[in-house]
Amino acid sequence: MSTFVPASRVSRIKVSPSTAASARARELKAAGHDIVDLTVGEPDFDTPENVKGAAHAAIDRGETKYTAVNGTPALRNAIIGDFQRRLGLTYSDNEMCVGGGAKQILFLALMASVENDAEVIIPAPYWVSYPDMVIANEGKPVIVQCPQETGFKLTPEALEKAITPKTLWLILNSPSNPTGAAYSRSELDALGKVLLRHPQVFVLSDDIYDQVWFKDEPMTTLAAVVPELKDRVLLTNGVSKSYAMTGWRIGYAAGPAPLIAAINKLQSQMSSCPSSVSQAAAAFALANDQTFIIDSVKVYKDRRDYACARLNAIPGLSCLVPDGAFYLYPNCGGVIGKKTPDGKVIENDLDFVLYLLDGVGVAALQGAAYGLSPYFRLSFATSMEAITEACDRIEKAVKALI
Ligand code: PMP
Repeated sequence: MSTFVPASRVSRIKVSPSTAASARARELKAAGHDIVDLTVGEPDFDTPENVKGAAHAAIDRGETKYTAVNGTPALRNAIIGDFQRRLGLTYSDNEMCVGGGAKQILFLALMASVENDAEVIIPAPYWVSYPDMVIANEGKPVIVQCPQETGFKLTPEALEKAITPKTLWLILNSPSNPTGAAYSRSELDALGKVLLRHPQVFVLSDDIYDQVWFKDEPMTTLAAVVPELKDRVLLTNGVSKSYAMTGWRIGYAAGPAPLIAAINKLQSQMSSCPSSVSQAAAAFALANDQTFIIDSVKVYKDRRDYACARLNAIPGLSCLVPDGAFYLYPNCGGVIGKKTPDGKVIENDLDFVLYLLDGVGVAALQGAAYGLSPYFRLSFATSMEAITEACDRIEKAVKALI
């Protein structure tokens, strides 16, 4: 009997660790353990009722067939309108693509552009999928450490040092998963000045969390701050996080027409188009009343403030206050080297999250998975009750360390 051997591009990459850890927490829960799960990377809110209604209406109108590869005119117009209104950026139809989630668009963008070990600069801590997406597409991830001292953000100096003649992409994710850190206008301007000196470098601007935004100053993005770079930026976004629509699988991007054409060509052979019904729902969400975003951001902000204050009051932990998204990335350096009540030494952040899971039933993710230790990622896209309980348990667990 012959055994199946996957292609090397599969063996080079790993299953998304956030998915694996959430699965483990779910398994433990299913086995009857009392687990507070703070690994989730999606809003705990339901999709807004009027958006669901738009999907029902699309089904009733018979919008249940393939659409154009680059999406329905309604969705394309809604996206163009959204980028124009919120960011002041004007894109035309041939500068837009739509896919089954921002994740698919990012993958296709790399597939459309990367080969021969082209280098992709990834500031760490990073979203777990970036390095593997680059590796799967025959590229070389170049990880640049961005410590807490620089707010987990890439500095112009670090960017300049990382660029080589082989650099093809810089990935910027603002606000960031896992830290919630967001680049200010002046920080983007300074990075832009470096990029203007290196015309071979394109920028994947992953703005998927840009509407989960807590600061008074409005959110902005590289292509808006440095217009000369607009033709070198692929601006990716989607409805997953802003409108609690993760399961609908709609993401999109705007950028240089030749890149968009290449992405659409791949898309035409890969999936033809994303779900017609989901496109109708996403078009409605983008083009209509935005109170859902305003209301949900207020709730996230209260949770963020509460969780940060609680964690910062625990000796051994410290946490920067995120600008956006729904994650905290606390430093657990103060517990490394300590012993658990069972006599096990906490050597690193993975040991710490396993201690939290097995000791007090809190599921979190180790900073090592995001490329910067010793930290752990907590999601506050869950109820205040769960967050309160988790903070109580983390406090108890840390205080029990010797
Ligand atoms: N980028 C980042 C930083 C993310 O955290 C996620 C979702 N976890 C995505 C992109 C993908 O979002 P989606 O595919 O649901 O649009």
